[in-house]
Amino acid sequence: MTHAAPESPDHARPVVFRNGTVLTMDDAHTVLADGDLLVVDDRISAVGRALEVPEGTLEIDARGGVVMPGMIDTHRHMWQTAMRGYGADWTLTQYFVWYYLEHGNKFRPEDIFAGNQLSAWESLEAGVTTTVDWSHGLQTVDHADAAVDALQSVPGRFVLAYGNIQAAPWEWTADPAVHSFFERRRAGSDDMLGFQLAFDVTGDPAFPEKAAFEVARELGLAVTTHAGVWGATNDDGIRLMHENGFMTPETTYVHASTLTRDSYQRIAATGGSISVATESECSAGQGHAPTEQVLQYGIPVSLSMDTSVWWSGDMFSAMRATLNADRMAEHMDAHLKGETITHLRLRAQKVVEWTTRGGAHALGRDDLGSLQPGKKADVVLIKNDASPVSFPLLNPYGHVAFQAQRADVHTVVVDGRVVKADGKLVGIDLAPVRREIESTIEYLRGACGDEVWQQGMFPQMPDAEASILDNPYQYSDYVDEGKRAGGEERVLGR
Ligand SMILES: [Zn+2]
Repeated sequence: MTHAAPESPDHARPVVFRNGTVLTMDDAHTVLADGDLLVVDDRISAVGRALEVPEGTLEIDARGGVVMPGMIDTHRHMWQTAMRGYGADWTLTQYFVWYYLEHGNKFRPEDIFAGNQLSAWESLEAGVTTTVDWSHGLQTVDHADAAVDALQSVPGRFVLAYGNIQAAPWEWTADPAVHSFFERRRAGSDDMLGFQLAFDVTGDPAFPEKAAFEVARELGLAVTTHAGVWGATNDDGIRLMHENGFMTPETTYVHASTLTRDSYQRIAATGGSISVATESECSAGQGHAPTEQVLQYGIPVSLSMDTSVWWSGDMFSAMRATLNADRMAEHMDAHLKGETITHLRLRAQKVVEWTTRGGAHALGRDDLGSLQPGKKADVVLIKNDASPVSFPLLNPYGHVAFQAQRADVHTVVVDGRVVKADGKLVGIDLAPVRREIESTIEYLRGACGDEVWQQGMFPQMPDAEASILDNPYQYSDYVDEGKRAGGEERVLGR
């Protein structure tokens, strides 16, 4: 190694990555072998070979590694990281029951803080330089302030997508306290922190969510919404949004799995992005990741991890899961027709693109997502000389998508600051982070009671007495009779 790790985030000092394989992710998909990348202040200053650098520049030896844009996760319920791995064997129904109906309202502001803080560090550690906090546990403005305080305590880039599953979207978005929250927190924020509104559209023909969309428009906030989630949201919600003029290029449609051609056409025509969360879709039951459809209709795509209550919080897993799911579907569709796939439609380059510039596009941040002079300096070096998996480095996109792991994230730069160096986070003391999580878990376990806590983690198969759960979105009296007749009710084993 040619450099010493800095003691703390260092803005004043330029940084140069030397002799790496640079995935610029520019329009021409330029890959530079033996390339250098120079960061000055918060911007990428130059990309090239044997760059001249200012005196005092921090030199990082990137030889044998991949230099790529910081990864972007457009949908993560960061507060739920406090319960990492708890729901590993859940279905979506069990998730809805635990958080939406039974226990989500137990979370206090300090619990939101603890989860967000841990999740934010986790992002940086894995080279995820921008994370959208799909923060739907904000039952009071105190919870929202705690969420933002946590995000601002960590040197990453975040977007708080404000949500509240404990109230109807048209109720909490009308709350004057929520409006003054945005006034307060947006006034004090820079481009390290953005804001969105996060809520779902149930398909109620009365379209009560209209008022929430109007608030988003009034406040100039993009809307992110779980769309096409089997049994919860469907084409009706998309159609109502479209007919009322609320589908815009800034809108993010999370999952967008269980939708028909009509909805994909409306999304494509209005320019919004789909956030594909394949690891989630594969096991929770929203529907199959819509990778075939986004390619077919030319819909912009970003990737996301959804929640660490089940899954990993790194984009390597997202890329891998997305390639695997698409290829499995492509092969199986062919096999059903007695045919053989000889050329795969979804390539490693594409998923790397989705997790970098795709995320930047979804957030309207064209200054992120690629390594070009003038862009914001969010940069990741993947390099692990001690690992036999680090060589040979032949196909850099394939290497990133299928070979690399979070432990191979050597250096992370956000906004020109080194936040991870030599494989270690800079300026973090994990002890208080851990203490705050432990105190949240102790509180939640106590509030649930031991038996309920254990049963929640290890759900038993239902017996004959199993109760039937209606749509988890119980904000209005609306019941989709078509869905009921279609047998989409859930049997719940509790
Ligand atoms: Zn989600």
